[in-house]
Amino acid sequence: MKTDIDRPSTWKKYSSEQMCHGCYAGCCTMPVEITLTDLIRLGLTDEDEIENSGAKKVTKRLVKEKKITSFREATGLFTLVQKSNRDCLYLDQRTRLCSVYEKRPDVCRKFPNIGPRPGYCPAMQNLK
Ligand code: SF4
Repeated sequence: MKTDIDRPSTWKKYSSEQMCHGCYAGCCTMPVEITLTDLIRLGLTDEDEIENSGAKKVTKRLVKEKKITSFREATGLFTLVQKSNRDCLYLDQRTRLCSVYEKRPDVCRKFPNIGPRPGYCPAMQNLK
């Protein structure tokens, strides 16, 4: 069955990091929700700014700078911007690798143990 990122029932069972080699990085084309700790690790804000300006102002700035699309107060999660082709803001279009790997958000570190279908991923051969 052909893998369809939007249909987790078509995803492959994740077995090892070997599956990531040469993969199209479909996992980096899905919406990424991140925490304040992630934002700070990514260098998009810091504790002083949050304390002095408040989360609302920081959100406004980061939306304007096209780093995040929104902040949900109920969950405390920010959504990272996706490019027009759905790629995450930080996905290198040429290498299909994360350009902020050492600083990547927790949700990226935990995938595919968490996500729409835990234990499965939208593995696909690199399309370049
Ligand atoms: S931050 Fe990196 S690992 Fe996470 S979705 Fe974006 S490109 Fe992928």
